[in-house]
Amino acid sequence: MKFIFRFLLGFIYFFSGFYLAHDLPILFTEKSLEKVNIFSAAQENKLVQKKVKKSLKNNHKSNIKKKCSLKADLSILPAENRKKILKIAQIFGCDKLRSLRKIELYSDQDLPRALANGNLLKIRQDALTLPEFENLIIHEFSHVIDLGFLRGSFESGESNFKDGSLPVFKNDLSLQFYKISWEDSETKKSESDQLDFVTGYAQTDPFEDFAESMLFYIKHNREFRILAKNNKKLRKKFNFIQKKIFAGKIFKTGKNFINPQERSWDATKI
Ligand SMILES: [Zn+2]
Repeated sequence: MKFIFRFLLGFIYFFSGFYLAHDLPILFTEKSLEKVNIFSAAQENKLVQKKVKKSLKNNHKSNIKKKCSLKADLSILPAENRKKILKIAQIFGCDKLRSLRKIELYSDQDLPRALANGNLLKIRQDALTLPEFENLIIHEFSHVIDLGFLRGSFESGESNFKDGSLPVFKNDLSLQFYKISWEDSETKKSESDQLDFVTGYAQTDPFEDFAESMLFYIKHNREFRILAKNNKKLRKKFNFIQKKIFAGKIFKTGKNFINPQERSWDATKI
């Protein structure tokens, strides 16, 4: 099981200019704010691998037609947010979110708007009414899928990528994505360029790269396609998401124009 939480920090804006301007190593990534121990990856991985393969093989369309229900109890959320979350789950296909066991709310303003690992989604109370609520959930659900669904098996051995202290196994499908721009969980490839990422925040680590790219694919698909035409690494990322996650589905979202030389910092805000 992977523990680390991925999140979007309100104060990243403060650091972002510094980070991008100096191209420093990661100033911070999302660290384990809380550890949950719901199931053991080592025990379940074989089974999970089978399910992942089967599910990805299945026609994505047939998955999303199913009425969506989540194992996590949504009753702590206002009705409107429950509705939005289920609508978003439907976009991904609920089978990909089955590792999500719990949703919690918190009010500490020093914490990010939302955070998630494979099993738990936490939402800051005031984020429920933010205009970017849906984008936040898409970003966080992408972490759930990355960390809770696309998991490799213990038997395949450890890769040089780690989610905090936990290994990413060699047959974890996400590795194919991470390796497009990353040497390991903290180091970008030497030839890596800032324009190889959909946003500034995607540069913080491979897990954020994955979540931001997924959000971009779903909400800014046309723009992502334009970027992919102009950038080889982004083309690989686009193709990975299109083929491996969405079984070829392209979303008719976003604008028909984007400056290929510019990037926003945070995909939830655009
Ligand atoms: Zn994140």
